[in-house]
Amino acid sequence: MIRIAIANQKGGVGKTTTAINLATALAATGFRVLLIDFDPQGNASTGLGVARSARDKSIYQVLTGECELSDAAIATRVPRLDVVAATQDLAGAELELADLSDRTTRLDQAVGRAEARWDVCLIDCPPSLGLLTINALVAARSLLIPLQCEFFALEGMSQLLQTVERVRARFNPDLTILGVALTMYDRRNRLSEQVAADVRAVVGDLVFNTAVPRNVRLSEAPSHGLPALIYDHRCPGSEAYIALAREMIARLPMPAVAA
Ligand code: ADP
Ligand code: MG
Repeated sequence: MIRIAIANQKGGVGKTTTAINLATALAATGFRVLLIDFDPQGNASTGLGVARSARDKSIYQVLTGECELSDAAIATRVPRLDVVAATQDLAGAELELADLSDRTTRLDQAVGRAEARWDVCLIDCPPSLGLLTINALVAARSLLIPLQCEFFALEGMSQLLQTVERVRARFNPDLTILGVALTMYDRRNRLSEQVAADVRAVVGDLVFNTAVPRNVRLSEAPSHGLPALIYDHRCPGSEAYIALAREMIARLPMPAVAA
């Protein structure tokens, strides 16, 4: 199973939008995909049309050992794409797990027990570097970092990379950085160009060639409970995510799957 965490401790940089639309693109390519909503705000769940009332089995119950990922997985309107939802309970999990000896590997263990059911597992992280994100980085083998094309984009990067180093050294030597995805890119704005150039100067080839443009269709789609790729598959945002998925697949050790 390919396991990818989508993380950046900043909020509002496009993690969830990226998670939903890459998951959809991968499912459309023929992979069986699981998206784990790992943010107590539950935006990925909402964006995939999972009502709050349908979240009685969520990632919180998986972490506490009350159920398995397979029991909590909910089929979405996208063929081959399942989601494990998040609820506000998840915010309490950091404290509840804090004293457990296996607190950093709870998610990794759960994902390990579900290996056979999905080809790809994407984890949409919360905007912090706390125990939840650590769990995601321990469960993942690859990390995808969305960066918003705005002035403070690179701020926080070194802290995130330090966290990755710590996780690698202590828990997960296999963790690699898959790439940095530029989001909310505005061609008409010199700042976007400048930020993209700065980011490329710092992290080099890790940056994907595809920058996701600022596109209102991407922000409208979640209110319909649909990935933008389904809501309007020809909008510039959708086209960018299709291109990004292609680049991502090329970087992964994945077997080709016929759609
Ligand atoms: P995060 O998960 O990092 O907090 P989100 O994916 O939820 O970020 O994005 C934050 C907000 O910006 C959301 O309202 C989302 O719809 C919007 N958004 C994300 N990417 C784009 C984009 N490329 N163009 C326009 N709006 C976007
Ligand atoms: Mg989010």
